[in-house]
Amino acid sequence: MPPQHETTLFFPTMKFQSTRSTSEALGFLDAFASGLAPDGGLYVPESLPQMPAELLNGDAHSYATLAFEFLSLFDTDHSPEELKTLITRSYEGTFDDPATAPLRQLADDLFVLELFHGPTLAFKDFGLQLVGNLFEDQIRRSGKPINVLGATSGDTGSAAIHGLAGKEGVNVFILYPKGRISALQERQMTCTEAANIFPIPIEGSFDDAQLIVKELFGDLEFKAEVALSAINSINLARVLAQAIYYFHAWSQLPAAAQNNKPAFVVPTGNFGNILAGWLAGKMGLPAEHFVIATNRNDILYRLFTTGTYETGEVHASLAPSMDIQVASNFERFLFYHLKGDGSQVAEIMNKIGSGESLTIPNFDAGAFSATHSSDEDITSLIRQIYEDFDYIVDPHTACAFKDLDRSRSNIILSTAHPAKFPDTISDAIGQHPTHPSLEKLKQRTPVTYEQAAQSGAIRDFILARRV
Ligand SMILES: *Cc1c(COP(=O)(O)O)cnc(C)c1O
Repeated sequence: MPPQHETTLFFPTMKFQSTRSTSEALGFLDAFASGLAPDGGLYVPESLPQMPAELLNGDAHSYATLAFEFLSLFDTDHSPEELKTLITRSYEGTFDDPATAPLRQLADDLFVLELFHGPTLAFKDFGLQLVGNLFEDQIRRSGKPINVLGATSGDTGSAAIHGLAGKEGVNVFILYPKGRISALQERQMTCTEAANIFPIPIEGSFDDAQLIVKELFGDLEFKAEVALSAINSINLARVLAQAIYYFHAWSQLPAAAQNNKPAFVVPTGNFGNILAGWLAGKMGLPAEHFVIATNRNDILYRLFTTGTYETGEVHASLAPSMDIQVASNFERFLFYHLKGDGSQVAEIMNKIGSGESLTIPNFDAGAFSATHSSDEDITSLIRQIYEDFDYIVDPHTACAFKDLDRSRSNIILSTAHPAKFPDTISDAIGQHPTHPSLEKLKQRTPVTYEQAAQSGAIRDFILARRV
């Protein structure tokens, strides 16, 4: 073991507490496996350790090195060798770029962190590849198989499926609204050729699918009988995994850009991705600023410019993975904003949950600012970026180019490959971007298990196909 590792190995005292403070604090794997805390809160580390200084001195470091050092600060349950194996399985061979998250330079002080080199060509692979391997590890340790159930409107479901396809001891049941997700996203879920994956189209909307999933998780007897597990955007391991690439981006940045008030600009929906960057900032990442880039569903834009949280209707946009009404990871930010006052977090989240519009007490946007892009903005930004830099961005990434402050260095997080959205790109610049992994899918036969949109039918299906 190289000496610099010794200081970061084993933090047997690291615990994860609920943002609502009344549930018991847990170790890493237990907090990971629980998803939501029993008191309804989300797990956060009890303290935020500093990343070792030698990894922040401006030199380049490999993704695997940074991932190991970062996760060593939190993972109370794996030996260094086990952790290295988890990282190798998650990020080597599964990503199609040797840098895992390469940083492209578009101009002197303008960079794009490409987070779309994983199996489903979107940034969610960073979290869900690790989650898949942690589930496998949990199954091996406990000797108990699990069945994963979720509903998806696109990206999360396919990233979860690719994190778990072919793994021992787990079957995956993903519900989605038939005919309402993109053809390519559907192929990513239905063409895996893995026997443990059950994509289930249902008649109805995403909310109908979500409701069935909720009902089945609420049936505690059934839940226990089939060892039902969830994959959702609030999982602790996903948020932690997403912090690593901020350090990676920083370590690849030229010195001049490191010294020019660097900002990370993040296409945002549920607030998971940008929250990870902000936590990295608390752990020593020398970023000055974070920009929340939303589409027309601009609840977070309004919150961070006015301090008022007001939910509205969800509108379909050209950046569909950011079409949200409730930014579920916002609760973690609120916890830090309220200095760990769990009862106040609970009170505010309950009000938000009941649809009340709410002004956050003493709200201070701090290191954050926000922008919002209409569909027209998205199309014209894709065109403009192509003309200026000869670079094609997907519609989510396009939002991050809105109103850029070019007096500082900017690192844009690119959350998806443009080939996933060929129609929008074609409308903007008259080109159809392609990707070999998507072309390969077109030669495979989709496998689906359509069911009636009733929890009873889905329950019977799971009972028949469970692992
Ligand atoms: C999920 C997703 C987002 C939004 O990320 P959050 O963590 O929910 O803020 C942005 N872009 C793409 C392509 C996504 O799949």
